[in-house]
Amino acid sequence: MLLSEKLTEAFNAQVNAEMWSSNLYLAMAVYFKKEGLDGFAHWMEKQSAEELEHAHDMINFCIDRGGDIAIGQVNVVPTAWGNPTEVFEHVYKHETYVSELIDKMVNIAEEEKDHAAKDFLYKYVREQVEEESTAKSILEQLKRYGECHIGILDSKLGKR
Ligand code: MG
Repeated sequence: MLLSEKLTEAFNAQVNAEMWSSNLYLAMAVYFKKEGLDGFAHWMEKQSAEELEHAHDMINFCIDRGGDIAIGQVNVVPTAWGNPTEVFEHVYKHETYVSELIDKMVNIAEEEKDHAAKDFLYKYVREQVEEESTAKSILEQLKRYGECHIGILDSKLGKR
């Protein structure tokens, strides 16, 4: 079954969204580097690379299913945050937004009765459960222990 026009469009939009996410986390890595929080920066670099992998994975699926991909312009990402807690509030909010985007793609795959696309996308439905949970957990640790124990969290995140 060839990827429908509607799904092809959705995959193109999602590839762009994954690239935007990758840039967002790269900008956050830069923020943490400048703050001297190398563990946090390392965690963000890994996160950024993972988002780019998602884009590649989606590109490959789309091409494999006969869809077309055009790599478009990626919008600018924010570059400044007040403190680490604010950064992770942003991460959590962003990941819940990405979950909504993935859910909408599953809805389209269902409408188009494309089971292969649905199966492919379920991997991302599961991925998002993990992403939201991880972001929330780091955010809660930041809130609970405050920024006075940031060094402990920094060395923990550096082990990712
Ligand atoms: Mg992603």
